[in-house]
Amino acid sequence: MANYYDDNKDIEFYLNNYDLSELVSLYENNYEEVKKYDFAPENYNDAMENYKLSLNILGKIAGDIIAENADSVDEEGAKFENGEVTYAKGTRINLDMLKKAGLNGVTLPREYFGLNFPTLIYVMMIEIVSRADGSLMNLFGLQDIGETINDFGSEEQKKKYCSAFAKGEATGAMILTEPDAGSDLQSVRTKAVWDEKESCFRLYGVKRFITNGNADISLVLARSEEGTTDARGLSMFVIERDETVQIRRIEDKLGIHGSPTCEIEFHGTKAELVGKRGYGLIKYVMTLMNGARIGVSAQALGIAEEAYREAYAYAEEREQFGKSIINFPMVRRMLDDMKMELDAMRALLYNTTIAVDYKKIYEKKYEATGDKSIRKLYQYYNKLAGFLTPLSKFYLTEVGNKICYDALQIHGGTGYMRDFKIQRLYRDIRITNIYEGTTQLQVVAAIGFITSGLYFKFMEEAIEKTELGLVEHINKTKDLLNELKALVELLKKEENHTKKEYYESDLVEIAAIITIAIFMLQNAKYSEEKVQIAERYIHERFPKAKYLIDRIKS
Ligand SMILES: Cc1cc2nc3c(=O)[nH]c(=O)nc-3n(C[C@H](O)[C@H](O)[C@H](O)COP(=O)(O)OP(=O)(O)OC[C@H]3O[C@@H](n4cnc5c(N)ncnc54)[C@H](O)[C@@H]3O)c2cc1C
Repeated sequence: MANYYDDNKDIEFYLNNYDLSELVSLYENNYEEVKKYDFAPENYNDAMENYKLSLNILGKIAGDIIAENADSVDEEGAKFENGEVTYAKGTRINLDMLKKAGLNGVTLPREYFGLNFPTLIYVMMIEIVSRADGSLMNLFGLQDIGETINDFGSEEQKKKYCSAFAKGEATGAMILTEPDAGSDLQSVRTKAVWDEKESCFRLYGVKRFITNGNADISLVLARSEEGTTDARGLSMFVIERDETVQIRRIEDKLGIHGSPTCEIEFHGTKAELVGKRGYGLIKYVMTLMNGARIGVSAQALGIAEEAYREAYAYAEEREQFGKSIINFPMVRRMLDDMKMELDAMRALLYNTTIAVDYKKIYEKKYEATGDKSIRKLYQYYNKLAGFLTPLSKFYLTEVGNKICYDALQIHGGTGYMRDFKIQRLYRDIRITNIYEGTTQLQVVAAIGFITSGLYFKFMEEAIEKTELGLVEHINKTKDLLNELKALVELLKKEENHTKKEYYESDLVEIAAIITIAIFMLQNAKYSEEKVQIAERYIHERFPKAKYLIDRIKS
């Protein structure tokens, strides 16, 4: 009997120690929701218990069922025959269990049969599911489609589609990428043509690399404005799968075998506009992708957590030179680094998600009230989340890959064999720094916040909020932040743009290290263990940041 929530106190740490009362109250509309829905929480404690209960249920399903099915899902994979996709048997069982447990529509409002949970809880769920089976997260995580419709769709669309997602009656897909439009989505060519006779749009074109492209309901990015070639000509559409949506093939992939990746042709598919014309990429897809980036970061975290546990268990069991290999300092060091980085990843991701939650809730409140003070809060969190989201994806997916690499190394030759789980984790995590925007595109998204100086404002404020218990470390962090600031000023004087861009990923990496150190120092007030781990992180990672600064300067 395994429980992937209960056996990981590092997840619960955030629920037990962070004061989420303001956030939860905003989500629950000051606990007015209970007047409409008798199952809604009556107060903060009630809400927290509810979240923990759901995480516990998911933890059990993940540990006892999803994890048990993961190897067979990887072996069997999704299949494609006669134009139709079928999931592996284990995937079907897993999805059915999640549906029965009522774990669809986690963040959707109760009005549409959702759970109305903050994104923080949803992200914890993604971590738990991914630890059990990285490929299942791709299907579980497509709940984001429902959320995008809830954010930008018409009342009718919300009623129809959000309810279907929340009840687990429909599957979703996010259809953006084309053969010639990957990172550069403004090159999308799929056409949306207005059909006068039927008074609807119709889609024509080819899309590739689409996760779950066989879905019942999909969001599609297509060119609605004839003659345009940039982002302003793109709109977002919702479609229901019919015979005009033809799946050409599914990809034969390195990992996440349970998740079908489809190439699709649209032959006049009936499509409904979501939101306003011309806002498809600029607004809606960016929101959808930012949500998915948080999800993929959690996917990397879950897979890396499992890799660490596998490596630890193997290192204790395997003996060489007359002792367990865990007793060799080089092996121990790899394990200690993994543990430290998992803590760092969680500190960054969960703080990012809290910022995302505030952004979402203040945006809705501002739209409903027009209150200018709420608008200010929304604008603040919009920027903070806008920076932290690509930073999280940049850091978690790269470091998650490194953790899986080292975890396989600890297994020696055994790790290279199909019989052991670690090779699956190593293959599955590889995609996380590619899809939903590659690592390089996360740098492109984050760098503006650093060069504009906004990043430094956020961090200075965050340091102010950090309790002064660990003065020496706080001062070290301030010093490093100032060094980065001086470097950014120096680079501004550089006229060679190519040279500047060359170092952007280093700047983002340094910024990530500082951000994480601050969050870890904030966590340190809650336990001695967190003090030690923050100290270790600063001791291990600041020299690297300083080295990067010196290298750029030289
Ligand atoms: C398994 C899988 C599932 C997927 N699921 C979906 C899905 O559900 N829906 C969907 O729409 N798409 C999906 N994708 C597509 C995915 O999002 C793209 O593959 C990804 O965005 C990269 O695009 P690309 O493959 O065309 O690479 P390219 O854009 O060709 O990039 C190639 C390389 O060039 C680099 N590069 C490109 N532009 C820049 C730049 N400006 N600066 C620096 N470096 C740059 C990239 O970082 C990368 O290293 C999926 C892909 C895979 C493999």
